[in-house]
Amino acid sequence: MTQVLGLGLGEVVMQLGDIQLRTISGGKFLIDGGTMFGVVPRTMWEPLFPADDQHRIRQATNCVLVSQEDQHTLIDTGYGSKLSDKQRDVFQSEAGDPLLESLAAHSITPDQISTVILSHLHFDHAGGATRMNEQQLLVPTFPNAEYVVQRREWMIATAELPELRGAYPQDNLLPLKESGQLRLIDGDQEIIPGFHSMVTGGHTAAHQVILIEHGDLMSVYLGDICPTSRHLKTLWGMAYDVDLLQVRRQKSKILSGIADQGWLALFDHDPDVAAAYLDRDPKKEFVVAEQFAQL
Ligand SMILES: [Zn+2]
Repeated sequence: MTQVLGLGLGEVVMQLGDIQLRTISGGKFLIDGGTMFGVVPRTMWEPLFPADDQHRIRQATNCVLVSQEDQHTLIDTGYGSKLSDKQRDVFQSEAGDPLLESLAAHSITPDQISTVILSHLHFDHAGGATRMNEQQLLVPTFPNAEYVVQRREWMIATAELPELRGAYPQDNLLPLKESGQLRLIDGDQEIIPGFHSMVTGGHTAAHQVILIEHGDLMSVYLGDICPTSRHLKTLWGMAYDVDLLQVRRQKSKILSGIADQGWLALFDHDPDVAAAYLDRDPKKEFVVAEQFAQL
């Protein structure tokens, strides 16, 4: 049974069985609307997601914090605190370390996080995984955490492929390996009790969706397979997707499961709807049945 405990400060707090699930902000930003909708004509997406006079739309990085007694698991880390001044200007990103500030608002310190699961390694998901410490050294942000990444995603992200130049800043990644905190996994599996990886590919070659078990029900962190509640059309993808057809196949499968099983969908980039239950709809495929909006 889902009990919504609170909505506020851009966050959703839910009690799901004996676990507490919170969506917490890893930082808001602005981005060109076309990049988030790829081949979808602007005349179709803009009524759902109005752009500003520079063609930008609002984006969130809704990370997920799952707490069970003193076990705290984090899914994705937002863009962190290491963006250059130029990047901050382009993305109008938040100053400081938005994720750590969100955790502090819940009285959680970085050393309390035991596991960090990364859906994929783009900067807006893995940027908060590392930080520059007081001695100006790059270190993992969460000193006691195991960081869990799909091996294939890691291999591609650290291969410094010229065609992916800029997609995977190495400062977000290499400190995780150097500190011995990196755990590479291969394919679908139970990562830690109650957390299951489902490799989708599509957005990146080994992008994974995370299923969080609570009793008979599940919450599904969709990552960038369906980044916002305005991406429910199964043919819609992002300009960043390396394999749009795979995104379409996987999105159809996963949203069907969510709607048919009554699971909770968690949207990583939606600035307004962090979590929602979905229904099938004969015309629109899937619609939001009940949304947990951010205030
Ligand atoms: Zn993203």
